[in-house]
Amino acid sequence: MPPSPAPTPGSAQVRADCGRCFGLCCVVPAFARSSDFAIDKPAGQPCPNLRTDHRCGIHTELRQRGFPGCTVFDCFGAGQQVAQVTFGGRNWRDAPGTLPAMAEAFAVLRPLHELLWYLTEAVALRPPAELRVELERARAETVALTAGDPAQLRAVDLTAHRDRVNPLLSRASDAARSPGGADHRGAHLLGADLRRVDLRRANLRGALLVGATCWASTSAWPT
Ligand code: SF4
Repeated sequence: MPPSPAPTPGSAQVRADCGRCFGLCCVVPAFARSSDFAIDKPAGQPCPNLRTDHRCGIHTELRQRGFPGCTVFDCFGAGQQVAQVTFGGRNWRDAPGTLPAMAEAFAVLRPLHELLWYLTEAVALRPPAELRVELERARAETVALTAGDPAQLRAVDLTAHRDRVNPLLSRASDAARSPGGADHRGAHLLGADLRRVDLRRANLRGALLVGATCWASTSAWPT
């Protein structure tokens, strides 16, 4: 596949483009041996399966080889932002001294890009005009933050920015679900049998749903 155009400041991309990244998600985080990762790996150390071209050497058999965690991780485009914008295409293999600063930048950009994803989705839900303006403004502010150099990224107050954005996302969620369904915010629903529970338009923010069984059909409700 031909590489997509390089992201530029002000046009942050929220879809991961691994071909423009330097395998940062395979280097920066620490792995703990578990059902998700077959090995222990310290932070900042390349995974032994990462090839020198920054491609995964076991990409087609990640689950069989004990790395299902790699199949669900999403950087929301933060990887190529670090690689191509923050560090201008400089590769940590050619300049190993850049890796700690790249890791720092990735730790800030990944949550910023995740927020960008949510803000983009919220706008796509066609919120009321006034809310849409606020969401667009928050998105522009977030894009501006992602364009910072390593020092500017270090200075980003992620908590404060999240605190400004989260209420907007909640309002967009409420507007999209209006009239709202049941409120299950923060509910402990581990292993719950929810097949007879109407979850349409329900608020499940922060709910624990591991092992829960839900009715999957969107076309008809069982009677
Ligand atoms: S197994 Fe492959 S995708 Fe997972 S961290 Fe290692 S190189 Fe990356």
